[in-house]
Amino acid sequence: MSQNMLPRHIPLPIPNELLQETVSKSKDWMVAHGCAMRKKNDYSEDTVQIVPFIVLPSTIPRKEFNKVVRLQTVLNELMHRVAHDHTFLEECFKDAIEVDDFSANLFKIYEAVREEGICQAISVGLFRSDYLLHSASNNVLKQVELNTVSASFSGIGPCISQFHRYILEELGHHDKIKNLPENNALTGSAQGLLDAWKLYGDSDSIIIFLVEEITHNICDQRMHEFEIRRLNPRVKVLRRTFTDIYERASLNANKELIIDGYTVGLVYFRIGYEPANYPSQKDWDARLLIERSRALKCPSILYHLAGQKKVQQALAQPGVVDRYLTETDKINAIKELFVGLYGLEFNEMGERAVQMALSEPERFVLKPQREGGGFNKYGQDVKKFMLEVQNSKERTAWIMMERIQPPTVMGYAVIAGQPNPPPLKEMVSELGIYGVLIGSADKINVNEQVGHLVRTKSSSMDEGGILAGAGALDSPYLI
Ligand code: ADP
Ligand code: MG
Ligand code: MG
Repeated sequence: MSQNMLPRHIPLPIPNELLQETVSKSKDWMVAHGCAMRKKNDYSEDTVQIVPFIVLPSTIPRKEFNKVVRLQTVLNELMHRVAHDHTFLEECFKDAIEVDDFSANLFKIYEAVREEGICQAISVGLFRSDYLLHSASNNVLKQVELNTVSASFSGIGPCISQFHRYILEELGHHDKIKNLPENNALTGSAQGLLDAWKLYGDSDSIIIFLVEEITHNICDQRMHEFEIRRLNPRVKVLRRTFTDIYERASLNANKELIIDGYTVGLVYFRIGYEPANYPSQKDWDARLLIERSRALKCPSILYHLAGQKKVQQALAQPGVVDRYLTETDKINAIKELFVGLYGLEFNEMGERAVQMALSEPERFVLKPQREGGGFNKYGQDVKKFMLEVQNSKERTAWIMMERIQPPTVMGYAVIAGQPNPPPLKEMVSELGIYGVLIGSADKINVNEQVGHLVRTKSSSMDEGGILAGAGALDSPYLI
C-alpha cells in the first residue's frame, strides 16, 4: 500500500457476483429512500435517477473528524463576527467588485440595504465547512472552503449514512457499524430553519424556498420541506423563483414581504449563489426586495458575502482570526485548519503569489468568487491563466490557495447509467460539517453543529461536484 493511501477496514475487492448483487440492491435502496435527482437531460417531473454513491463508507481518522465537529460552532461564530464587520468586508471586496460583476452586484445589494437601514437584524445560516485530509501534514484535515449559501445534501447525506449501516450489515460486518457516526444533518437543518422562522414572531407567516425554475437536486430540497412539516405541520412552505418574487411580491408599510396573500417569515435560498441564477436585472431586483424586507433570510446578504472566497483568503492572514475570537486555543485550532491562501492584489503579497504560481503551478489552486463547482484552475492551467492575467486588474477577483494533497482510499462508485459491477478505483474523500447559526450583531440565538457529509471522487479528478456529475455521496468510516 502506498504511503498516501488510507487503510480500508472492510476487505476489498468484493467478489464480482456478490458485488453485482450488492449494487443492484443498493440502487433499489436509493430509490426506495428518495436518494435521487432529476436527470440532467430530462427534467420531467415524473422521473428521477439515483444519486451517485459509494458502496462502502470511506475512511476518515476519528481524531480529525471529532476535531472539526468540535470546531464547527467556533467557525460559525467566526463567520457571524466577520459578516458584521463592515470595514473588513469593504476592504475584502474593494478590488473584486471593480472587475467582477457578480461580486459587484452582491455588494451593491449589501450597500443598498445598509444605506436604507437593515430592518431585520437577525441573520440565519446553514453553513457547511468542507475539508480534505492533507497528506503533506500527517493527514490532518484542512479547510477547502466554508459555504454559507445553499449548502446542499444535508437531506440526502444522512440517508447515505443510514444506507452504509444497512449495507455493512448485509455484507456481514455488524461489528463495524459502531464506526459510523450518527448523522442528523436533515433534522438539525430543518429545526434550524424552524427556530429562525419562530423568531419572526408571526405564527401565520410562511417559509419560502427560493428555487430555480427546474430543480435538479429536487429530493434533497423536498426532504428539507417535508422535515420542516414533520417537525411543525402548521408551517406552510412554498417554493418560489426570483421571477415569482419579482412579479408578485411586495413590501407593505411595515416592510413585511408579502407574496400571494402570505406574509413571509423566512426565505431559504437554494439558489442565488451563481451568476446563472440572475439572468436579468429583474432577478437582482427580486433579491434586493427580499433583502430589504423584514423576513429572515438564510443566508442574509451579510452571511452570503462572508462566505465568499476572498473573505476566506483574508481570514487566513496573520492576526485576522484573532480579531474575532477571544480564546487562544480556539484561535490556534482554527488557524491550524487553513492552508496557504494568497490574495492577488497589486502589492507585495500579490506579486509573490504570481511568481509562485508561475514557478510551481502544481502546488496551487486558483479560485474566483464563485460557488457550485467547476470554476477553479489547477495544474498547468494555473500557470497559463496567470500568464494571461498577471498584468490585468482581473487577477484581483481571484485568490490562490495551496493545493491540498489528500490521501486516497479504494472504493466503488455507483453512477446511474454505468455498468454493474463498477470498477474498484482510487478515490479521494471530502468531508463537510454542517452548522446552524442564528443571531444579530449583539446576540447569538442559536449556534450548533448539526451533522456531516462525505463526497468522494476519483483521485484523478481535480473537482468532485455531485451535481456536476463528478463525485459521489458517501459517509465516514472512523478509524
Ligand atoms: P466551490 O464553491 O465551487 O465548491 P471549492 O473551493 O469547494 O469551490 O472547490 C471545488 C472543489 O475543488 C473542491 O470540492 C475540491 O475537490 C477542489 N479543491 C478546492 N480547493 C482545493 C485545494 N486547495 N486543494 C485541493 N483541492 C481543492
Ligand atoms: Mg462552495
Ligand atoms: Mg465546494
